[in-house]
Amino acid sequence: MTLPFVLAAFSLFTLPMVSLSGRSQSTANTVYEVYALGYAIYPDYPTSSFVAGADQTRKTDAQMMFWLIKGPGGRTVLVDAGCYHERFVKGQGLKDFIKPTEALAKLGLSPGDVTDIIISHLHWDHADGVDLFPNAKVWIQKDEYAYYTGAAWQTGGRHGGIDPEDVLTLVRLNTEGKVNLVDGDDREIIDGIRVYTGGRHTFASQYVGVRTAGGTVVIASDNVYLYENLQRRAPIAQTFDADSNLRAQERMRRIASRPDLIVPGHDPEVFVKFPKPGNGVARIQ
Ligand SMILES: [Zn+2]
Repeated sequence: MTLPFVLAAFSLFTLPMVSLSGRSQSTANTVYEVYALGYAIYPDYPTSSFVAGADQTRKTDAQMMFWLIKGPGGRTVLVDAGCYHERFVKGQGLKDFIKPTEALAKLGLSPGDVTDIIISHLHWDHADGVDLFPNAKVWIQKDEYAYYTGAAWQTGGRHGGIDPEDVLTLVRLNTEGKVNLVDGDDREIIDGIRVYTGGRHTFASQYVGVRTAGGTVVIASDNVYLYENLQRRAPIAQTFDADSNLRAQERMRRIASRPDLIVPGHDPEVFVKFPKPGNGVARIQ
């Protein structure tokens, strides 16, 4: 991966751009702003379903959120898309729900402004909103797509948390040419935005590293549910295997420029640690 990337960056960007314009327009310095956007609370969720080994009596008001990566030139990338259908909002008893598009509107952005959606995994609370953004290209791991459109629904398959209607929506988006299947680990899918696999929260979940002015932010999504997973070095409770999750957490510590730049998937503390601008929006960097 490293060598072809370096060669491509050198030959395509650095030389021609500098010589033509007289100043560097190399995209290698592209930096992004990263935000967490809250869209609901899942009240009284058992903490032991988040953190393996946690006291069975503890409960967490789980923060439902997705993330915005805002780049130059109108590049507007979401990591996950929340949910909005009644079967989840009412069916799961979500509180303080706002549609993901309304959460985005708090930053002055319209659904049509979203250029890309990186789906970390296909659980309903992350993927159901994927069709709210008409101009977005969707990025999902090829193995995640293949498994949940196929073998997951065969005898012996596992599809807990995966909604059949969401799967059909994704297949439709694919037939419309709007889905990019990411082939594996450590892929820079957009300049300065890299996806990683390894934590098997679902069949092939991915997490995201983003270059910002303040260093690399890791959007862990559910590969880390709560800060407590990181602090106690405890695997997430819902995973194909605990070892892959612990390895992913260790790797995130190396990828992120600072430990507090690893953003967990459901921790309300995200909005306490990063209180600005507020009103359900947290600017991470
Ligand atoms: Zn989740």
